[in-house]
Amino acid sequence: MKFTKNAVTLVLACTVFLSVAQDKLTGTFPVRGLSIAAPRKDAVDPFVKFIRDELAPRNVNTLLLRVDYNYEFESHPELRDSIALSKEDVKKIVNECKRHNIRIVPQINLLGHQSWAGDLGNLLEVYPQFDETPHVQMPEEYKWPNPDGLYCKSYCPLHPEVHDVVFAVVDEICDVFETDAFHAGMDEVFYIGDDKCPRCGGRDKAELFAGEVTRIRNHLASKGRELWIWGDRLIDGKATGMGMWEASMNNTYRAVDMIPRDVVICDWHYERADKTAVYFAMKGFRVVTCPWRNPAVGTQQVDDMANFRSTATSEMKENFYGIMQTVWSGPDNFIEGYYGKKKDEKGGSNTAWHCFEAVFDRMNALGRQ
Ligand SMILES: [Zn+2]
Repeated sequence: MKFTKNAVTLVLACTVFLSVAQDKLTGTFPVRGLSIAAPRKDAVDPFVKFIRDELAPRNVNTLLLRVDYNYEFESHPELRDSIALSKEDVKKIVNECKRHNIRIVPQINLLGHQSWAGDLGNLLEVYPQFDETPHVQMPEEYKWPNPDGLYCKSYCPLHPEVHDVVFAVVDEICDVFETDAFHAGMDEVFYIGDDKCPRCGGRDKAELFAGEVTRIRNHLASKGRELWIWGDRLIDGKATGMGMWEASMNNTYRAVDMIPRDVVICDWHYERADKTAVYFAMKGFRVVTCPWRNPAVGTQQVDDMANFRSTATSEMKENFYGIMQTVWSGPDNFIEGYYGKKKDEKGGSNTAWHCFEAVFDRMNALGRQ
């Protein structure tokens, strides 16, 4: 009896020791992420090698992959990019990530970002009836600012057929990436509740935004999956002085009190280490702070996240979910830059790869303390 009790105590002590040791090895935050475009078909192998050689040793555990229509969708082949990843290509990425316990969160931009500069995205190209602002013509030569206020097109969230299409591709991308989390983008939505839209005109923009977030979240939840989005539409751009890009100047910010609390907020701030993570955490959301290309800001954001976690109540601590480095170029450019093959003349040392290294060095240093 005595022996059994001692043995149990020993096992318990070892378990506690091992879990503490493991925790120290793997860093301090639940999410240690990288957000980047999925590779093009001819660049899958170097990308897989980069996961193995660089992401795994740096303790990256979350990979947000901006896929959009770079996949050979079977549910809607008409939406595929002309050259797109096959199932086999995707499985190479999935299997490498599994080996290193990296969770993949695939992204297809929903609601906003349905065009870029002068190019219409695949969804509105194929289904022009989903366009929130069909009266806004795509320009021959795109310039910002422009009289239409065209940054990116949006789809109409109240169109009766749009969700049949987009949920089919969302389900397919989650299936092929074998994941329980999906990122819907939903940043920088300037066209919403347009006066000329027969369905949305005159409606409350915050309610429209919240309605779309909730609808996507509920669809994912019905399949045991969770929704991630960018956080900018949920911050008051006027009161904070953060303006129209990293916050909302069209009143969508009130949606923060209308959406389900299990949506994960990716809170991007690139020029200053704004403390908005506290705002989201206090509202009950898990929040991931996202740097880009300024190493000083990025490391400050890591320190802030550590500080928030160490001083929070137990109720809020786990809402401070971690850090995700964002990369807005393609992976080829990022990998070339990372290995020093390509100088950024304009950026100097303010590049996504410098920031990535600085942010993960800092996170790993904190993890070893
Ligand atoms: Zn509409």
